[in-house]
Amino acid sequence: MTWSNSRNKVLSERAQAVIPMGMYGHQSVMLLPDDYPQFFQRAEGAHLWDVDGNRYVDFMCGYGPNLFGYGNDVIDAAYSERMRAGDTMTGPGEAMVELAEAMVAQVSHADWAMFCKNGTDATTMAMMVARNHTGRKTIVLARGAYHGAAPWCTPLKKGVTPSDRANQIFYDYNDVESLEAAVRKAGDDLAAIFASPIKHDTFVDQESPTVEYARRARELCDERGALLIVDDVRAGFRLARDCSWSLVGVKPDLSSWGKAIANGHPISALLGADVCRMAAGTIYVTGSYWFSTAPMAASLATLKLIRETDYLERTQALGQRLRSGLDEVAGRHGFALRQTGPAEMPLIMVDDDPTLAKGYFWNQALIKRGVYFHPWHNMFICAAMTEGDIDFSLEAADDAFKLLKAAGPLEAPTKLAFMHQMLEA
Ligand code: PMP
Repeated sequence: MTWSNSRNKVLSERAQAVIPMGMYGHQSVMLLPDDYPQFFQRAEGAHLWDVDGNRYVDFMCGYGPNLFGYGNDVIDAAYSERMRAGDTMTGPGEAMVELAEAMVAQVSHADWAMFCKNGTDATTMAMMVARNHTGRKTIVLARGAYHGAAPWCTPLKKGVTPSDRANQIFYDYNDVESLEAAVRKAGDDLAAIFASPIKHDTFVDQESPTVEYARRARELCDERGALLIVDDVRAGFRLARDCSWSLVGVKPDLSSWGKAIANGHPISALLGADVCRMAAGTIYVTGSYWFSTAPMAASLATLKLIRETDYLERTQALGQRLRSGLDEVAGRHGFALRQTGPAEMPLIMVDDDPTLAKGYFWNQALIKRGVYFHPWHNMFICAAMTEGDIDFSLEAADDAFKLLKAAGPLEAPTKLAFMHQMLEA
């Protein structure tokens, strides 16, 4: 079937009339290459169909939730059974206690769990717990790291006041000196250091944490009586069957979770150590949907698959196959790729492409060949992908490089200029 986008165009036009800017937040395709579909009709396993019926091998995995494949039978059966018996009720079900037990058993630094809906709920609660525990205000964060879309952390400044951003000091990821300087600046007011599990910022090469940086963050918190927070919303259970910083041997006091913990069903979590149990129990946080039982049942089923399957080794091997295959294909056409981050959570950018013109062209060609890549956000490998999906994607990449080579010099995408204006405003 040839690729087409007429239905998507009609829906996008209708959306312009009734949804501000047609879409918002990370879901807006306004900053993606032309022809990226905005609306989808169906998803199954590692595949996604847009409203025009075009099929994609989906390397975004719903921006992270899809770990075991869309519509995973076991997880969705657990969800449906609980939904029929009672989901959003006047109070939670047994599954809440079972899930807290399961998360505490799974994540080595955790002694307790609280559940919420979005990753932003969990990161905001982490900040509140740290401030409540210490009686201090200042949080130290890595510059450019994403922790959600509340006024204290949303990337754009529109609608945000300086006081929403007060009591924040920034450091550079993996830079021990800048971390120490930020902590010194916080003086006796340090409540917490926030760390992403890996540097998974948009537009820049990804980095794993150095052991030196992670250990120093732990020491600085211990010296000052502050709390160490790892924001595992995006990477949680994709890099390890424990908190991602178990890979560098550092235990945080708090970790925030979301996305993959229920394979797409809406639930997030804050996990913590005993040291701040009381502080966590005395902040007021809640939500109408936070105690829904069906997503908790889905999360329990997801955790069972995390414990009992080789999903992690599988996604790592598939990621490696993609990585080495892409390097080979790019080289064949005289291009190089910057493939950074763990293979199972890769960021893939065309090298020597400061304006992203080549990357936009190449990604757009991939979309039309049934491969959903992202030009500047890390991607994800799910356990439902097959070697066949990877090989299909490599063939598409081969074609896309051929077109890129034939295209010659390209103009910078104007969309990105618009984004820079928004960021600076
Ligand atoms: N932290 C990180 C590291 C994230 O990647 C995200 C979402 N992309 C969030 C927090 C916020 O999660 P949510 O969008 O579910 O609020």
